[in-house]
Amino acid sequence: MIVGIDPGHGMASRAWGVFDPGAVYAGVREADVALAVAHHLRDECLARGWSVAMTRRDNEEPSALRYRVGKLRSAGADCIVSIHCNAAESPQAHGTETLHAGYEWVAKAVNDLVCGALGTRNRGAKHRNDLAILRYERVAILVELAFLSNERERAILTDPGCQREAAIAIVAGLAETVRR
Ligand SMILES: [Zn+2]
Repeated sequence: MIVGIDPGHGMASRAWGVFDPGAVYAGVREADVALAVAHHLRDECLARGWSVAMTRRDNEEPSALRYRVGKLRSAGADCIVSIHCNAAESPQAHGTETLHAGYEWVAKAVNDLVCGALGTRNRGAKHRNDLAILRYERVAILVELAFLSNERERAILTDPGCQREAAIAIVAGLAETVRR
């Protein structure tokens, strides 16, 4: 299996030459959390004998949002996992949700496992038709790991152990639901 990994945001995501940090709270940038979890995800996939393709490998590699799916399609990705953090005006908002455009069973399995791994509230799988990264002819999900705008969840998101646990949970969810 070839897993397409998309760490949200990053260099040239929205505009050429401009770094898009995503949400930033208390100095923590969503782009950095997404990248850290994506690297764990890559390692866990490789450990299972799967292959990986990444839309960006670091904070320097330019990766325009509109080319990301094409890049993973060219790599022959059987599925796409985009990694993001949530944010809200209310600092109380919390929990984990996974977005999909027709792959509810995959999104639900992954989301349930990530919630179990991180101890976060299960906000469920949510259908979204408006996200470029989900417009793929095979499995595509976008995991909103937890809320950067919530102090407790920010601590989870920046903890390397939790980042790895989240990646292990995502891989377990894919192993259960994605068939080549
Ligand atoms: Zn994001």
